[in-house]
Amino acid sequence: MPTGEEVLVRVEAAGLCRSDLHVIDSPPGGLPYRIPFTLGHEVAGRVAARGPRATGPAVGERVVVYGPWGCGRCARCASGAENYCDRRTALDQELTGTGAGLGRDGGMADTLLVPSGRLLVPVGDLDAVRAAPLTDAGLTAYHAVTAVAHSLTDGASVAVLGVGGLGHLAVQILRATTTAHVLAVDVRQEALALADSCGAHFGTLSRPDTAKVLRARTGGAGAAAVLDFVGSRSSLELAVAVLRAGGELAVVGSGGGELTVRKPGVLPPGTRISLPFWGTVPELEQVVALAREGSVRVEVERYALSSALEAFERLRAGAVRGRAVVVP
Ligand code: NAD
Ligand code: ZN
Ligand code: ZN
Repeated sequence: MPTGEEVLVRVEAAGLCRSDLHVIDSPPGGLPYRIPFTLGHEVAGRVAARGPRATGPAVGERVVVYGPWGCGRCARCASGAENYCDRRTALDQELTGTGAGLGRDGGMADTLLVPSGRLLVPVGDLDAVRAAPLTDAGLTAYHAVTAVAHSLTDGASVAVLGVGGLGHLAVQILRATTTAHVLAVDVRQEALALADSCGAHFGTLSRPDTAKVLRARTGGAGAAAVLDFVGSRSSLELAVAVLRAGGELAVVGSGGGELTVRKPGVLPPGTRISLPFWGTVPELEQVVALAREGSVRVEVERYALSSALEAFERLRAGAVRGRAVVVP
């Protein structure tokens, strides 16, 4: 039972993220987490019980769970930016984990114990399976788009590299919140079909001449922004080759690639690079609002929780369309 400020959520759905595979594959001691813990950092459900000092949604309310749990007390947390909690490093050193399913027990279970009601966002009657991925795939994509949106005026182009769980939502969020010309890249034809149905203006497979193909689509100048949801060596090479001078490069994927920052070097002059991590509570509220009004719709594959391993194997094989979600 929850104590203090804690809230117990009965899980209705939990999304699978490629980051879960990074966690599973990480060597012992490779992450600042104490094991074992339950995975699942994209969670939707219903408030089942509240501790005596709990705030926020009432028992019975349907909610999604904000994933990166901060200290709850620093200036960043006070503004809802717990993803950039000032005490994150200290929390890591204390091995208290990043949040639900990342060092602390997550939502691939019947219930999830959340430290505080401040980490819950009401979702009304949104379908749980489509709501759960909003908390990471949707929120991280939204945060990354918001970070580069100022550059996406006057018919500017934006390249989205990787149209999986995060990328297919980034395409929709770009269409819903900017006037940018959206260019999608993936290594899978099915992902390009998904990009097309999400509103991308153009899609192409990643090939040796892709930078040239994309540049031609921008009138030669290059893309004002690149959102890299892969982060591998080849995707970063493509990102740099397609970026316009003075452009924005947001590296979201954790694909192990590296970039060398040197002047002069491979990066176009004036490049701004960001490493967006997840998003803020107010941004999650905005993503939920976009979903409730129908501007953003998560493409899902649904699995029983007992088939989670099969779902992870499909994710690993690159076979998932949109997001795989398990239901307990
Ligand atoms: P996903 O597997 O659902 O999607 C990845 C997509 O990239 C797939 O469609 C795949 O075909 C495509 N792809 C693979 N290699 C490619 C290449 N070289 N060029 C173009 N496309 C390529 O994964 P996801 O859950 O959307 O996660 C994407 C990445 O983002 C992962 O590395 C994950 O760990 C990371 N992530 C980061 C944050 C953050 O806060 N920064 C949050 C969530 C996930
Ligand atoms: Zn994730
Ligand atoms: Zn904090």
